Amino acid sequence: MSLFEDYQPIAAIAVTPSGVKRLLSLCDATDAILWIPASCQEAIDGKTLTRVQVYTGSLTDHLAKIWPDCRAFIFCLATGAVVRAIAPLLQHKSIDPAVVVVDEAGKFTISLCSGHQGGADCLTQAVAHQLGATPVLTGASSALQLPGIDVLGVPFGWNRGEGNWTAVSAAIARQEPVEVIQEVGCTLWQENLPEDHPFILELPNDTTPHKLEAKTPKARVWISATQRQFAPDSDFPKVQWHPRVLWVGVGCERGTSRRVVETAIAQVCQSHHFAQAAIAGIATIDIKADEVGLLELCEARQWPLKTFPSEVLKSVAVPTPSTVVEQEVGTPSVAEAAAIVAAHGLTSPGEMRNSLLVSKQIFRLEGEPGAVTIAIGQSEREYTGREGKLWLVGTGPGALNQMTPAAQTAIATADLVIGYTLYIDLIKPLLRPGQLVQSLPITQERHRAQLAIAFAEWGLTVAVISSGDAGIYGMAGLVLEQLREGNWDGQTPGVQVFPGITALQAAASRVGTPLMHDFCAISLSDLLTPWTMIEKRLEAAAAADFVVALYNPRSRTRTEQIATAQAIFLKYRKPDTPVAIVRSAYREDEQITLTTLEQLLENPIDMLSTILIGNQSTSFYENWMITPRGYLGFETR
Ligand code: SAH
Repeated sequence: MSLFEDYQPIAAIAVTPSGVKRLLSLCDATDAILWIPASCQEAIDGKTLTRVQVYTGSLTDHLAKIWPDCRAFIFCLATGAVVRAIAPLLQHKSIDPAVVVVDEAGKFTISLCSGHQGGADCLTQAVAHQLGATPVLTGASSALQLPGIDVLGVPFGWNRGEGNWTAVSAAIARQEPVEVIQEVGCTLWQENLPEDHPFILELPNDTTPHKLEAKTPKARVWISATQRQFAPDSDFPKVQWHPRVLWVGVGCERGTSRRVVETAIAQVCQSHHFAQAAIAGIATIDIKADEVGLLELCEARQWPLKTFPSEVLKSVAVPTPSTVVEQEVGTPSVAEAAAIVAAHGLTSPGEMRNSLLVSKQIFRLEGEPGAVTIAIGQSEREYTGREGKLWLVGTGPGALNQMTPAAQTAIATADLVIGYTLYIDLIKPLLRPGQLVQSLPITQERHRAQLAIAFAEWGLTVAVISSGDAGIYGMAGLVLEQLREGNWDGQTPGVQVFPGITALQAAASRVGTPLMHDFCAISLSDLLTPWTMIEKRLEAAAAADFVVALYNPRSRTRTEQIATAQAIFLKYRKPDTPVAIVRSAYREDEQITLTTLEQLLENPIDMLSTILIGNQSTSFYENWMITPRGYLGFETR
């Protein structure tokens, strides 16, 4: 599993020894193939690396060969040279690969071409995080902190429809008011716009005052299942996105050809002004799961084929039941019932009926075998056609430079970032314009986990962020626990955990080397753990002379626990045992207090602090807390 999965295959290209060195480690991180000229072979020290391949002949010729097969290119080469090399190969922004340029010093990554639809802007930022470089994005929408209008629906699997995309993008770049009429599909993108965004958002049934604002729109974006025809050169440009909300219920005779079904669907869509791009998939009865014409059609159009047993279909109330059909297959309706069930998931039958937009119609085509029945249902939530992922990301103690490049990359490339409000604020600089963010109050951890899982199951790549390490008193455990409760198969959604520097490491680094020998972490929070258990651990750790890091030491309501912990330690350790209280390590309000076990409670302690209690041989030297590497002077001989 790679963070760069969505860009594969990636070709990296360097033509100088230092360029080769710059890209080598990046290729490991990105799973790219590094192409080098024979003259650079020395730069890889004669190693036969599987990721490195040597090209012969000119770079231009070589590029022409690999261009059609790559989704992304990363060049370590002067931008001018790259521009000349790729110029003859460029066709259109809707199909060209992402092109990213890295300078030899590794200071900058430049999104050169296909920034939006090709994903180069996002890849540029991900590569920048890997290299510790500054991403250079020159698109107007990223400067305005807006999502690109031509990639708006990508996370939700929407299809781009007809319209003058260039003119609408230009209107947005000029910050002219642009009307958005969203009839279907997820509106989460609207919640993440900057305050001064140029959109006039028209939600169905919306009566809020902004409608009264006297802004005259200069362009329009439709988000709907309807196919609209726009005049090509209108000075009021329009575009349309089609969320995939239409489920086509199909019943057919055995042996009905793909052409019959396809023509029937096209005709129904045309007569009802539905965009075929808004079709989520085909639904039918399970005995049609091997119907060749249907399978061919679904494969060609990349539509899923959902099949349901007759027992499920017959439980649905439909407008046009048929006794003939019932006698044949055991349900009075196939097309209508399947469309309804697919559109609704398997929810309560009572509310299903409303979801049918077109009741059944029968088609034949002269000269083609078979007959087909079509009905169309509309789902509340669009089908994304994507396989979601859950990235459980540890963001470290606070400062961005204490976060791993992998964690930074995960946050910057996820479709949606979910976390506690304070931590979302800390990682704000990593977020992309238009990225989806859900910040939630600290108390709602389980809710946060559930929400993240629901979005990932729906198809989004979700980064769930936790301070420190996500797997240490963090969100990662909650997410895995809940996946298990939901009978997760261990694969889908895919899960990846990104480690982070945990509070005990962060705190230790600020005071010296207190954790140099065996240590343990104990959380004093008894919200989820019985206090007797915590006490037992405190006793054991104190008796065994572990250096101990206390997490969650004291809250406004939990004030006694720290006193009990101190009393337990005093049974086994000297009163002058060194203790460090580190509050908000690596954050602006960081505070460090060095004290002793005896005086511990005379100092301010709260939920933002971690307490480190030394072992028998820990001592202070100047302002440093040092636990010797060996033990009590008995070094191993
Ligand atoms: N997942 C986190 C721990 C969360 S539990 C991690 O791995 O660090 C919350 C506790 O962590 C706090 O009560 C405090 O004891 C500790 N903590 C988290 N961030 C801290 C920081 N920047 N400085 C000091 N302690 C911190």
